[in-house]
Amino acid sequence: MVKICCIGAGYVGGPTMAVIALKCPHVEVAVVDISVPRINAWNSDQLPIYEPGLEDIVKQCRGKNLFFSTDVEKHVREADIVFVSVNTPTKTTGLGAGKAADLTYWESAAPKGSSFRSFRILSFAEGTAIADLFNPDRVLIGRETPEGFKAVQTLKEVYANWVPEGQIITTNLWSAELSKLAANAFLAQRISSVNAMSALCESTGADVTQVAYAVGTDSRIGPKFLNASVGFGGSCFQKDILNLVYICQCNGLPEVAEIVSSMFNTVSNKKVAILGFAFKKDTGDTRETPAIDVCKGLLGDKAQISIYDPQVTEEQIQRDLSMKKFDWDHPLHLQPMSPTTVKQVSVKWGAYEATKDAHAVCVLTEWDEFKSLAVVFDM
Ligand code: ADP
Repeated sequence: MVKICCIGAGYVGGPTMAVIALKCPHVEVAVVDISVPRINAWNSDQLPIYEPGLEDIVKQCRGKNLFFSTDVEKHVREADIVFVSVNTPTKTTGLGAGKAADLTYWESAAPKGSSFRSFRILSFAEGTAIADLFNPDRVLIGRETPEGFKAVQTLKEVYANWVPEGQIITTNLWSAELSKLAANAFLAQRISSVNAMSALCESTGADVTQVAYAVGTDSRIGPKFLNASVGFGGSCFQKDILNLVYICQCNGLPEVAEIVSSMFNTVSNKKVAILGFAFKKDTGDTRETPAIDVCKGLLGDKAQISIYDPQVTEEQIQRDLSMKKFDWDHPLHLQPMSPTTVKQVSVKWGAYEATKDAHAVCVLTEWDEFKSLAVVFDM
C-alpha cells in the first residue's frame, strides 16, 4: 500500500489529501500538522476550514485511509511520498521584506537528511477546491534530480487514478514554480482589468456584466475570472505577484473613498453594514481579503461597521482588523487598530441583523445567499 504523508493541514493540504484519499482507496493518506487544535478539528465534526463538498469526503474516508495526526515524524518516516503544504507568506522583515516568500515554515517542515520524495503543492483555488481537484485542468509536477524522476513516476500513478494522463504535465522545478506564479499573475490581472472597466462602465452608463460577458465569449479570452468586485484577495495572488515582479505598491484606498464620497463625505458615526468578509465566496479564508482594507478605511473615518459573513467567525474578523499591515503596503494603516477602534465593529450572524438601520450596505464577498437579499433591499 502506497503511503502518503502531507505536512500542513491547512486550506491546501486538507482538501487535496481528502480528494486523493477518496480517489485512491488503496493509498493511505496521513495529514500531519504541528497545530494540535487544527488536527483536533479535522478529527471532529467541526472541520477547521469550509469548502463545499469537503465534509462529505472527510466523513467518508476518515479512519479508513485518511488520517489526521500531530505525529509528524512518524508519518514522514513511514511515507513513500511526502507533500509539503505549509504556509509561505510574504516576508514581513529582513531581506526581501514585503516581496519575497517566507520559507521559514517550509524549511521547518523539510525532514533533514532523509532521501524522501517531496512535492510542494502549487496550484489551488479556494471555494471550488473540491470540484477543481476532481476535475483539474492540469496537474503540474516539477522535477530536478534523477531521484526526483522516480518520485514523479510515483506521484503520476497516484493522480492517474482520476486525471487523464495528458493532463499531467511534468517540467523542471523552475518551470513549474514560474508557471504557478505566472498563472496567478494573469488571473489577478484579469480581475484588476475588469474592475478598471467597471469604473469606466459606471461613468459611461455601460453595464459591466454585459461587457464582461461579451468580452468573455471571445475564445481567446474566455469567460472565467471576469467578475467585477472590490478587488482580488486570498493568500496567493498578492504574494505571488510580489514574488514575480519586484515591487508592487498600493497606496490609497479608492474603494473606501468611493463609499465615503457617496455619503456626503462623512461616514463618521454612521452605520455601514458589511456583507461578506472572506476573500471570495464559499470559503472562510480571510487572508488578504479586500474587506480588511475597506473596513480599516471606514474605521479610520470613524464609521460604525456591522459585519456578516456566513463562514467567518467574529474572532477571525477582530483579529484581522487589529492586525498590522506591512509598512510598504498601506502607510495609512501602519499602526495596529486600538481596542476602541475594534469596538466600532460588531459581527452579526445574519445579513438582516447586520443591515438593520444601516446607512449603507457594502457587499464585499459575492456569497450566493446575498443575491436574494438584494431584491429585498431594492424595495
Ligand atoms: P495554506 O493555505 O497554504 O494551506 P494554511 O496556513 O492554511 O496555509 O496551512 C498551513 C499549515 O501548515 C498550518 O496548519 C500550519 O500549522 C502548518 N505548518 C507550518 N509549519 C509546519 C511544520 N513545520 N510542520 C507541520 N505543520 C506545519
